[in-house]
Formats: sequence, structure tokens, C-alpha cells
Amino acid sequence: MPFAKKSLGQNFLISPRVVGAIVAAGNLKEREIVLEIGPGKGTLTRALLEAGAHVRAIEKDDRLIPILAKVFEKEIANGKLELIHGDVMALGDGIFSREWGGSDSYKVIANIPYYITGALIRNFLSAKIKPSLMVLMVQKEVAERIIARDGKESILSLSVKVYATPELVMNVSRGNFFPIPNVDSAVIKLSNIRNPFSDENGAPDENHKIGKIAEQRFFEIIKAGFAQKRKKLISNLEKVMPAMSGEMPKEKLKILFEKLGLDENIRAEDIPLKMWLKLSSQN
Ligand code: SAM
Repeated sequence: MPFAKKSLGQNFLISPRVVGAIVAAGNLKEREIVLEIGPGKGTLTRALLEAGAHVRAIEKDDRLIPILAKVFEKEIANGKLELIHGDVMALGDGIFSREWGGSDSYKVIANIPYYITGALIRNFLSAKIKPSLMVLMVQKEVAERIIARDGKESILSLSVKVYATPELVMNVSRGNFFPIPNVDSAVIKLSNIRNPFSDENGAPDENHKIGKIAEQRFFEIIKAGFAQKRKKLISNLEKVMPAMSGEMPKEKLKILFEKLGLDENIRAEDIPLKMWLKLSSQN
């Protein structure tokens, strides 16, 4: 067996209990399609197949491909497992548009390499064909930031919550992996995945704009809002509003804040998603 590569985030799950909990959180039906990122040595892959899923697994490490191909020879031959050698970040929308037995509904269930967590979640949630559910092992601190149980939002939590409802499945201590990583982990579930910027799914409120431009504007506004964390939101927005939407001096922002019932002194981290959607849909 090859050595684990740190650069590829290789910490293999060795706990059947945790593997079982990940699969259970996936709530799989027979023949449902699962995309697994980084099958590694196939521990989770095996459990997903045993739960009845059809798995498309993408592995970057060329040393693991022949091992997986041998271990899962039967499942590959009978079409239950498709093994792809590649970098999930380079495949782009290609992974969704490939023929999937006539279905474009899929779940992402994976113990992912942590160095791509943010970009990977963003890519799937903003993809044209979004997964119906994501169950992911992530670093514990990242899980806490995404869920924001302390009520403090961040660019990361808002970028997830705008598309999905995140929840904690379980905390996983480092001893459940080999080699033992330097951080603890957590399994999170992203459900109710939707596109709030699409008219098909209904806008969150009557003022909310729809489409790609509204989506871009939302991300521009949250980035600007969090640009200087210690500053008040109004000061952070002041700098970007004029460039983005004609004249928007501080006085205008004050009027807007009053209209939305926002305290002038509020900071970005204290504003919930709904309010960011309202803020980003103002001219
Ligand atoms: N699923 C296995 C398990 O639970 O034991 C392995 C998980 S390990 C944390 C992450 C896996 O992702 C490794 O097998 C690694 O080689 C693979 N990987 C790393 N970067 C990748 C990428 N960009 N695309 C696809 N796979 C990647």
C-alpha cells in the first residue's frame, strides 16, 4: 500500500462507526447516484455500494487507481461503480453533464481533502446541476464556521446558507483517521439545496432580484460587508456601493438601513442571510 500523501489531504477513515454514520446521513435509496470525491482506499465507497448506491468516484492519486480498480473489479464490471482518475476541481461541470443513466439527480457524499473544502462546496452549490444533498467530512473549525451556531455569520456561512441548510451530523476526533491528522473533524450535511436566484424556485421576498446578476451582486455585497471585520457594516458598504450602483453616499445608506430596520452601528457578522439578500437587491 502506498504511503499517504499529505499534499493530497490523505487521512483515511478507519472507523466503521463513522463510515456508517456518514452513509446513514446520506439517506440513500436503492440505485441512487452518489458522487464521491477522493475514494482513497475505498472504505466509504464500499459502504455506499452496500447501501445500494451507484457510485461515481473521482480520485486524483494515480497510485490509488489500480488498487481501487482491483478491489472493486466486480462493481466496476457490473456498472455500480464508475472510477474516474482526475482532479475534481479541474472537471468542472463535466462531472454533472456526463451520462448518468438518464438521471441528473445525485448526492455528494465524501470524506474530502481539506485543502479544497471552500472551493469544492462553492463549486457544487453554485453549479447548474446541483446535488440534492451533500454529506461531507470537513475540518471541525470549518464546520463550526459554516453552521455559525454562535450566530456570527461569515462569508463562508452565508455562501453556504444562501443555497442550502447546513447541519452538524457528528464531531469526529482525529483518532478515527490514519495517519492521525493535526486537526479534529466533523461531518456536516447540506440539505434543501436550491437556487434562491432562480425564478423557478421562488424569490425569498418580493424585492428580491433574480438571475446571475443578482447572484454576483449578493457575493459582491457580502465580500464588501466583511472587508474590514472590525468596521461597521455601513462604512464597509459605503466604499463599494457607489461603484456598483450609481451614487450611494453614506446618507443614502443610512436611509436604506432605516428602511430595512437595520441599526446603523451593526457589524457584518450580526446580519442574517435574509437581510443580506435584501441589501444586495437594492439599487
Ligand atoms: N475516502 C477516503 C477515506 O475516507 O478513507 C479517503 C479520504 S482522504 C481525506 C481524501 C482523498 O481525496 C484522498 O484519497 C486523496 O488522494 C483524494 N484527493 C485529493 N485531492 C483530490 C482532488 N483534487 N480530486 C480528487 N481527489 C482528490
